[in-house]
Amino acid sequence: MYDLILRQAKTADGKLIDLAIQGGKLAVVGQLVAEASATQAYDLHGKYWVSAGWIDSHVHCYAKSPIYHDEPDLVGVASGVTTVVDAGSTGANDVDDFYRITRAAKTNVLALLNIARTGIVTQNELADLTQIDKLGVQQAIARNPNFIIGLKARMSSSVVGANGITPLRIAKEMQQENGNLPLMVHIGNNPPNLDEIADLLASGDIITHCYNGKPNRILTPEGQLRDSINRALSRGVKLDVGHGSASFSFAVAEMAIKQGIIPHTISSDIYCRNRLAGPVHSLATVMSKFFSIGLTLSQVIDCVTRHAADALRLPEKGRLEVGADADLTLFTVQQSPQVFVDSEGLSVEGEQILVPLAAIVGGEPLLTEEGKSTNVFKL
Ligand code: ZN
Ligand code: ZN
Repeated sequence: MYDLILRQAKTADGKLIDLAIQGGKLAVVGQLVAEASATQAYDLHGKYWVSAGWIDSHVHCYAKSPIYHDEPDLVGVASGVTTVVDAGSTGANDVDDFYRITRAAKTNVLALLNIARTGIVTQNELADLTQIDKLGVQQAIARNPNFIIGLKARMSSSVVGANGITPLRIAKEMQQENGNLPLMVHIGNNPPNLDEIADLLASGDIITHCYNGKPNRILTPEGQLRDSINRALSRGVKLDVGHGSASFSFAVAEMAIKQGIIPHTISSDIYCRNRLAGPVHSLATVMSKFFSIGLTLSQVIDCVTRHAADALRLPEKGRLEVGADADLTLFTVQQSPQVFVDSEGLSVEGEQILVPLAAIVGGEPLLTEEGKSTNVFKL
C-alpha cells in the first residue's frame, strides 16, 4: 500500500512510466504490478507528462522586500514549480525572518544569501563595502543550514557603485570560508567588465542573466562567445538564464545556442511585477521560449530538474529515481501558436507551450488552475 500512485505518465524522453510514492519519497519508478494500491491512485493513460519537480533556480519571493517581492506559492506550486530558490533578496539582516514566514508555503523555499547584509533593499547593496560582513554571513548560514544553500553577488555597475570587482573577491573568500557553497553571480552593465568577473569564477559558480542583451554580455560585438566565458565554462562554471525584466535577449540566446552554448539551468528571476505584467509570467513561459530557439523538451526539462539540482547541490531533488524526494511536476505540451516577448521588447513566434497541471510536493498533489480545469486526475 503506497501513499500515491501515478500510472502511465509520459516522460520528457518519451517513455511511459508508473510511479509510487511512500513517506515523501519515490518508492517505485518504472512499472507497477496491477494489484499495487495506494491511498490515492491515478491513471494518466499516457496523456500527460511527468518530470521530477521543477526547480526555479532564481526567483524573488521575500514578501517584505521593498523592490522585488512575491509570494512563494504564486511563483511556485501555482505554476507547477515544486522548489523555488530566492536569489539574494535577503542578506544576514532579514534571512531569519524570510525563513520564518515561508514555512507556511506549500512550495519548497530555499535561499541564496546576498553577501550584503541588507539584501536587495535598494538597488546598490554592494556600493558600501561595510555592508559586506563576513561574520554576519557565517552566522546566518550557521543559523539556517538547510535553508541557505549558497551565496549571491550582484556584479553590475548600478549595484556595486565605485567598488568594481572588489565585492566578488570578497564573495569568493566567503564561499571558501563556508564550505565552498554555490555562488550565483548576476551580470549586467559594466563596470566591472565581464572578463574580469568570469576570470574569478570556477566550478561551483553560476553566472545568472547569461543571455542578457547589454553590451557587457557573453558574446563579443561580432557575436562570438567571449574567450573569458569559454575558459570559465571549461573550469565548470554554469550558465543560468535568470530571464527577469531586463536580462533576457532572444537574439543573444539564439546566437549562443547556435554555437552550442546552451543553458545549464533555466530560471525565471520572477517577482510580482514581471509575473503579472510580463515579460516573465511564469517559469513555464520562460521554458517554452526555449522551444522557439532550438531546445528539445528533454533539454528544457533537464534544465529545471537534474541540472538545477546539480548546480545547487540538492542530491535528493531533480531526479525520477527511487529514494529521491517525491517532488513531481505534471504537465502537458500544448500545440498552439504563441508570441513570446523577451526583456528587450522583441518577440519571437512559437508553436508550443508548456502547461503545468500539478505540483506534487513531498507526495502531496496540488493542482494548478489549468490542472483543475483539465481534470487531470479524473480521466
Ligand atoms: Zn539580477
Ligand atoms: Zn534576480
